[in-house]
Amino acid sequence: MSVNRTASPKSYIKKTWPIIILFFGSTLIDPLFGLVGLICMGFPLYLALTGKGKRHCSHYCPRGSFLGKFLPRVSLGWRIPGWMDSKTFKTAVLLWMFGIFGIFLFFAGTDLTRIAQVITRIMFVSFIIGILIGFFFQPRSWCKICPMGTASGLISKALAEKSRQ
Ligand code: SF4
Repeated sequence: MSVNRTASPKSYIKKTWPIIILFFGSTLIDPLFGLVGLICMGFPLYLALTGKGKRHCSHYCPRGSFLGKFLPRVSLGWRIPGWMDSKTFKTAVLLWMFGIFGIFLFFAGTDLTRIAQVITRIMFVSFIIGILIGFFFQPRSWCKICPMGTASGLISKALAEKSRQ
C-alpha cells in the first residue's frame, strides 16, 4: 500500500477548545501554570519557522477552536470593518501586544510566578477581546488581527520570499 508522505496532518481544530479552558482553570489553582502559555505563543512561531505556515491556526489552536465552537451560537455576525482587516491595524495590534508583553516581562524580572502571571494576563485579555470581537463580528474575527496569526503569516511570507531568491 502506498503512503502519501506529503499529505497535511489531520486537523484537530474542532476538538482543542477544552485546552484553553483547562489552561485558565489551572492558573487559578497554581499561577505557575501560566508558563504553559509560552507553548501557545511559541508553537505557532515554531511551525511557521519550520515552513508549516499557519498550520497552528488551521489545525491546533485552542483559542481559535473555542471561538469557532461557541461564538457562532451568540455572534451578531457583523462584517469586520475594512480598517480592522488592514495591514496597518494588524501590525499595530502585533506591536502593541508584544510591546505590552515585553514591558510587563521586564518588570516581572526573574520571578517565575510573576512571569507566569504576566503570560496568563496577556492571554486572558486577548481571549476576552477575541470573544467580544467574535460576538459583534463574525465568530473568528479575532483571527484576522491576532498577533500570533499575524506573526506566523509574516514569517511564512518572509520564508517564501527567501526561497524564491
Ligand atoms: S489567528 Fe490566533 S487565535 Fe486564530 S487560530 Fe491563529 S493563533 Fe489561534
